[in-house]
Amino acid sequence: MLDDFKDNEFYEYAKNLKQYYHAYIFEVPSIQASFKFILAFAKMLICKDHYTNHDKCLDCNICHLIDENYYADLKIIEPDGTFIKKEQIQTLEQELSLKSSNDTNQVYIIKQADKMNASASNSLLKFIEEPEPGIYAILVTENKSSILPTIMSRCNLITLNIKSQEKYEEEEIKNLVSFLAFLNKEKENSLPYLKSKFLDIYKTRDEIIEAFNKLEIIISNQINIKYEIKNELNFPFCDIIKASLGDIAINDLIFYLEIIIRFKNYLIITPNLNINLLMDRFVIEISRIEVS
Ligand SMILES: [Zn+2]
Repeated sequence: MLDDFKDNEFYEYAKNLKQYYHAYIFEVPSIQASFKFILAFAKMLICKDHYTNHDKCLDCNICHLIDENYYADLKIIEPDGTFIKKEQIQTLEQELSLKSSNDTNQVYIIKQADKMNASASNSLLKFIEEPEPGIYAILVTENKSSILPTIMSRCNLITLNIKSQEKYEEEEIKNLVSFLAFLNKEKENSLPYLKSKFLDIYKTRDEIIEAFNKLEIIISNQINIKYEIKNELNFPFCDIIKASLGDIAINDLIFYLEIIIRFKNYLIITPNLNINLLMDRFVIEISRIEVS
């Protein structure tokens, strides 16, 4: 099956998708309660072994330093007084321009990104508009409406704030949950099954976007449960999710979430996609199959 993917159009998709994920906004119910999760996400971008070893990265020196807040290629900034100021963003950019001393990706986290004043925001916008390979931005906020729309539009939004008003079909949630559970157990042999499982139910671009939205909510719920981020979850199927996804390592949940959001955003901004090719790519990426 992998041979089918090796055509030009497929590589064009892969290239476009890769370009689209150098900056993230995390909208969270509480920055403090969510910060362990944010750090886990940063580890995903920095530590090469972190994901191949699932959660067994405890002895990794890089991740240890990240936990201790001593890792030079992870920069964290937060408001200096009431605001994040332009000088802080400029200092950050200068430091990042020195390149990694550890030969890893460089990541910067901006806590309370909504507290950037106008000149800091504009300075960051210029930086995000011209992304350098190997540098990733993570903006964290409890209030995304105060972030410049021009910055928002250049970032992938990952929200841990669960929307509860929408209607969900129990059967559909069970299906999607089992898709994730299956993904976590099987690898290569599951490619055709995964793709057909998805495309049998979700056929059009809009339907796939909707399914990705639901997968995003399911995973966000499980992350909330695992990290005890939000005590009151209003989502009606938490027990189903917990029972099926409880065994999935947090690294894997983050990995799935990132891919789902990236593909969803790509679907939203790109009309006239070849859905079949895109879903091939999706299944390959989410199954972690290396295609050279
Ligand atoms: Zn590690």
